[in-house]
Amino acid sequence: MTGPRRPEHGFETRAIHAGQPPDPATGAVSTPIYQTSTFAQEAVGEHRGYEYSRSANPTRTALEQCLASLEGARHGFAFASGLAATDAVLRTLRPGDHVVIPSDAYGGTWRLVHDVFAPMGMQFDAVDLDDPAALAAAWQPTTRLVWVESPTNPLLAIVDIAAVAKYAHDREARCVVDNTFATPYLQRPLELGADAVVHSTTKYLGGHSDVVGGFVAVLDDELAASIGFLQNVVGAVPAPLDCWLVLRGVKTLAVRMDRHCANARAIVELLDAHPGVDRVLWPGRPGHRGHEIACRQMRDFGGMVSCTLRGGEAAAVAVAAATRVFTLAESLGAVESLIEHPARMTHLSVAGSTNAVDPALLRLSVGIETADDLVADLRAALDSVS
Ligand code: PLP
Repeated sequence: MTGPRRPEHGFETRAIHAGQPPDPATGAVSTPIYQTSTFAQEAVGEHRGYEYSRSANPTRTALEQCLASLEGARHGFAFASGLAATDAVLRTLRPGDHVVIPSDAYGGTWRLVHDVFAPMGMQFDAVDLDDPAALAAAWQPTTRLVWVESPTNPLLAIVDIAAVAKYAHDREARCVVDNTFATPYLQRPLELGADAVVHSTTKYLGGHSDVVGGFVAVLDDELAASIGFLQNVVGAVPAPLDCWLVLRGVKTLAVRMDRHCANARAIVELLDAHPGVDRVLWPGRPGHRGHEIACRQMRDFGGMVSCTLRGGEAAAVAVAAATRVFTLAESLGAVESLIEHPARMTHLSVAGSTNAVDPALLRLSVGIETADDLVADLRAALDSVS
């Protein structure tokens, strides 16, 4: 069996219960935080499935089962950060293998490929994956993996996941999707044909800006064996408390995402109408490139909105510093709204490269506060520099 799992229960039910039965020892309804490094054995080699917490820990198992269920995966592996999860997937490749990544991949993913894996012999090309001709032009006999983000960070480009996965499979390569921006509530890449899904659980899955974590959801057993091996051998695993924080966050993912999407809509309406704003980037806008694909492959369009300002970099930097409800900070996907300037903050590592982002760009992570407060806050900041 290699297809996505057909779940017995709905998404919200699985978010609350999958992998989390009441604790068999005590009946505790909230999964215990098994804050232990090691586990007593009855006799040498006789244990209850847990020996040492780098290899496995019950709180981590609960998280892995829950997130695997939400993505429709057969296997799930939790990591200490999103980049540790990305690193594990890339380590399954060999020197000389060629990888295609998005031209506006998350800056940290670009840096990992460019500064760590490429010097060790990985070949790669960064292309606009929303352009099938660009993927075809970059393809090489040694291409083993296409790394997809959709929507991308920070331009919110939409990639046709089903088409890219098919293109890769027809050429015996794998397709892995960083689903951090969409979450499994809005988009399930494995159902669209991808082989694996990566998350920074730091973002929407955790949802409260209180934990850093990562996750890999895998369909096929062979890739899962490699990722599981690397998780234990390299040891970039999350602590039990961090697993518990993500588990707790995920319970409310569906209701949070509905509000993130609704609030993003209200912010997009403001930006569309404001004279100081040049381009508005949000997959839910009918004019957005890839909007029709987003309608097909996403349930809703997410809480991330980007825009460029007519006043250029100076205006963007000034607006980022002028909001009061939106906090000026890196990261995204939590209950509180954040604003940032990608060229000087999250995407500084790609400055000067072909991947550099427009300095007039602002990225908004629209939170779940009162929509009117968010709109008023951003309007006041835009008015102050226009
Ligand atoms: N993928 C995306 C799309 C991200 O935005 C981020 C972080 O911002 C990462 C991966 C890396 O995650 P982490 O910061 O948890 O390592």
